Amino acid sequence: MQTVSLPLPQASSVFRARLTATAVVGLAVLAASLFGILTRPVGFLAAFWPANAILLGLMVRNKDYASLPTWLAAFFAYLVADLATGSELAITLWLTSANMVGVITGYLLFRLLGDDDRALRRPLSVLYLFAISAAAALAAALTGGGAAEVLFGRDFISGLEFWFVTELVNSLVILPVILAFPGFVRFRLTDRRGLGRDEVARLLPAAVLFCSAAASVVIGGPGAIAFPVPALIWCALSYTVFTTSTLTLVLCAWMLVAASTGLLAGPIPPDALGSTSSVRLGIALIALGPLSVASINAAREELLRKLTHSANHDMLTGTLSRRAFMDQGHVIVGKQAGQGVPTSLLMVDVDYFKSVNDHYGHAAGDRILTEFARLSSLAVRKNDLFGRVGGEEFAVLLPGTGLEEATAIAERIRGIVENSEIAISDVKSIGISVSIGVAATDGMADACLDGLMAASDAALYRAKSKGRNLVQAA
Ligand code: GH3
Ligand code: MG
Ligand code: MG
Repeated sequence: MQTVSLPLPQASSVFRARLTATAVVGLAVLAASLFGILTRPVGFLAAFWPANAILLGLMVRNKDYASLPTWLAAFFAYLVADLATGSELAITLWLTSANMVGVITGYLLFRLLGDDDRALRRPLSVLYLFAISAAAALAAALTGGGAAEVLFGRDFISGLEFWFVTELVNSLVILPVILAFPGFVRFRLTDRRGLGRDEVARLLPAAVLFCSAAASVVIGGPGAIAFPVPALIWCALSYTVFTTSTLTLVLCAWMLVAASTGLLAGPIPPDALGSTSSVRLGIALIALGPLSVASINAAREELLRKLTHSANHDMLTGTLSRRAFMDQGHVIVGKQAGQGVPTSLLMVDVDYFKSVNDHYGHAAGDRILTEFARLSSLAVRKNDLFGRVGGEEFAVLLPGTGLEEATAIAERIRGIVENSEIAISDVKSIGISVSIGVAATDGMADACLDGLMAASDAALYRAKSKGRNLVQAA
C-alpha cells in the first residue's frame, strides 16, 4: 500500500507565521498603549499615543499581518492595557473602538497606494501619508471625541480637536519611520571598522540638526519651531528616507516636550487647549517639508540608478554596453600597466551566427545571445569586465591575469558553450560554438586597451580561419 504524505510542515510553518504576527501585533500594541497611559497627564487623554501609528505601520508594512486574529489581538491589547491601569470597561470599550476605527480607516486608505508610495519612495508619498493620517485621525476623533465630555466634563468640540491633533501628530512623526524601515538585514548603523574621515563628514548634517534644535530652545520665540528646518533639509538630501524620518521623530519629540514645558516659545496658558494644539500641529507639519525632500530625493536617486544602468548595459544580454566597456576598460588597463600588472582581453565571436538567424529567425538568434551571455558569465569573475562590443561579438577584460591563465579561461568558456544545448523555443534546442582570440599586456611596451583589442581581434581572425570553435592566443 502506498502512503500519502500530507503537507504538514508547510501548514505548520504558515500557522507559526500567523502566530508570530498575532504575538508581535498584540505585544506592540500592549507596550505602546501602556507607554501612552503611563505618560499621560492627570485629568486628560494621553497626548503621546504611539499605539495607533505603530499598529497601522505594522499592518501596512506586512501584507500577511492583516488577518482577523491579528486585528483581534490588537483590540484585546488596547483593552488589557486600559483595564490593567484601572479604567472602567464601558469607557475602555469606547476609547478602544475609536482607536480601532482610526487604524482601520488608515489601513483601508493605504491599500489604495502602490508599494513605492507605502515605502515613501515617490515624490507625492508624503502628501498621501498626510492625507491618510488626517482622514484616520478624523475618523478616530469623531468616534472617541465624546469620551472627553463623559470623562473630564470638557465639551465635545475640544475633545474632538484634542483627539484629532494628537492622532495626526503621532501618525506624522511615527509612521514614516515604520514605513521607510529598510528591514533588519539591510539596515546597518555604522561600519564595523569604525569612523573614518568620510563617516565623520556624513554625520555633519545630523550634528548641525542637533545644534539647531538646541538653538530653538536657547533663542526661543514664536518662530523657534522652524529653526531646525534648514538642517533637516540638509539631512533629507544626505540620508535615506528612513534615517531622515528617524531624525525627524527624535527632533519632533524633543520640540513637543520643549513646547509643552514652556522651554520653546514661553509658557502656554494652562487651559489654552487651542494654542497647545496649534503648536503641536505646527511642529509636526513643519517636519513634512524635509520628509518630502527625502522621498523626492530617493525617487530621483532610484531613477538615476536605473538610467545609469540602462546607459551602461546592453538591453538584450545585460552585459556592459560597448561604450561602458571601453570607458571602464581604458581606466583599468592604464592603471594595471602603471603598476606593472598584466591584463588580458578575450574577444569572443559566435560561429556561423548569421545562419542561425537565417534558419531559425531573429528571435531565436536573440535567445542564443542571451543564453551565451549567461553561460559565459559563469566563467567570468567579479572584477572582470564582460561587454557586448558588436552584434554577436563579446569582450572579456581580465585585470591581473597573464596570457596563459587568460587562455585557460577562454578555453573554459569555449568548452561550456560547446557542451550546452540552448533552447530556442519550447520544443527545439540547438548547439552553438564560439571562437576566441586572446591577448595580454605582458610584453607589450605601451599597453593600452586599443592595442589589446587589435591583438585579440587578430587572434580571433586566426581562430576563424583555422576552422572555428577554437581559442587562439596572440
Ligand atoms: P562567423 O563564424 O564568421 O563569425 O560567421 P557569422 O555568421 O557569425 O558572422 P557574420 O558577421 O557574417 O554575421 C553576424 C550576424 O549577427 C549578422 C547579424 O544579422 C547578426 N546579428 C547582429 N546583432 C544581432 C542581434 O542583436 N540579434 C540577432 N538575432 N542577430 C544579430
Ligand atoms: Mg560570428
Ligand atoms: Mg562577428
